[in-house]
Amino acid sequence: MFDAILIDKTEDGQTVSISQASPDQLPEGDVLVDVAYSTLNYKDALAITGAAPVVRSFPMVPGIDFSGVVAESAHPDYKPGDRVVLNGWGVGEKHWGGLAKQARANGDWLVPLPDGISLKQAMAIGTAGFTAMLCVLALEKQGITPDMGEIVVTGAAGGVGSVAMTLLASRGFDVAAVTGRPAEADYLRQLGASSVIDRAELTGKVRPLAKERWAGGIDVAGSTVLANVLANIKYRGAVAACGLAAGMDLPSSVAPFILRGVTLVGVDSVMCPKAERIAAWNRLARDLDLGKLDAMTTVIPFEEVINTAAKFLEGQIRGRIVVPVGDTPN
Ligand code: NDP
Repeated sequence: MFDAILIDKTEDGQTVSISQASPDQLPEGDVLVDVAYSTLNYKDALAITGAAPVVRSFPMVPGIDFSGVVAESAHPDYKPGDRVVLNGWGVGEKHWGGLAKQARANGDWLVPLPDGISLKQAMAIGTAGFTAMLCVLALEKQGITPDMGEIVVTGAAGGVGSVAMTLLASRGFDVAAVTGRPAEADYLRQLGASSVIDRAELTGKVRPLAKERWAGGIDVAGSTVLANVLANIKYRGAVAACGLAAGMDLPSSVAPFILRGVTLVGVDSVMCPKAERIAAWNRLARDLDLGKLDAMTTVIPFEEVINTAAKFLEGQIRGRIVVPVGDTPN
């Protein structure tokens, strides 16, 4: 038996507790992983609190990502002892996830952890950091380069935003950090922000076009924030949109697209094809400043996960959270 966070559904609603699970309860899959670390992402907080219908079958072990060591494998690419990382694929939503000491998964969902990233750092990055990398790659694919001007990052003090800023700064971009927590300005500058903007500047009335301020953007907010970002993007700029922290709607117009040739690129980490995952993890290994990653990471004990999930949705969490899960994490 091993410890697992278990979400269940009763007539009175959703319950969540630290429970005991056994390997024979684990879902199907050709690789068994001893989980070393998991993390709390925005989606995990939604699942654990029940604030949104993220969990699609019960009982469910949450945790949309994990890092660990292969214990058993019937998959040709993996053998016991291999270090692996998993993000997405519905894990923690419809397939038991990373907040348990063991996880069984389809080997095709796993990515070999690149040398140079520890199991702990892999979860300091987690789905949020992986998504930030996908956003940076999306802007690069659109031909956005540092000489074109500043890149705006919304939700800058959150998980995706913190890693995105760090990655952009290390590639030589000037970064405008948008935050609802101006008290975090020093933290944001430490990660690489060249300017800090109060979120309130981007929550007012949306004009079809506004001053051309930024060459590109990474947006975790959606809604009015994204609409205002789009209106401020320079001619032929691009925005990678990955989140809905402000809302699912987009009260914009086609003006930025048809008059300034702006590109809006959607970024999804859950079903991202394997080749792109491997490329993104290799770029994280090469580009991410691990000192800055440490500075944005808080480690919480497994026992604190349920309480911390609620704080997450109240916007009280800064950067990334790592949860040691296994007995001998390394
Ligand atoms: P966090 O909670 O760590 O960060 C979100 C940040 O958004 C907050 O820290 C805050 O930043 C900002 N924010 C909060 N409320 C609002 C609001 N009403 N308006 C504008 N900004 C707001 O979450 P993550 O960084 O992990 O995830 C961010 C978003 O990205 C979520 O919506 C998540 O679902 C999505 N996501 C999508 C993925 C995908 O595959 N497409 C993968 C991972 C995440 P600050 O305090 O600086 O204002």
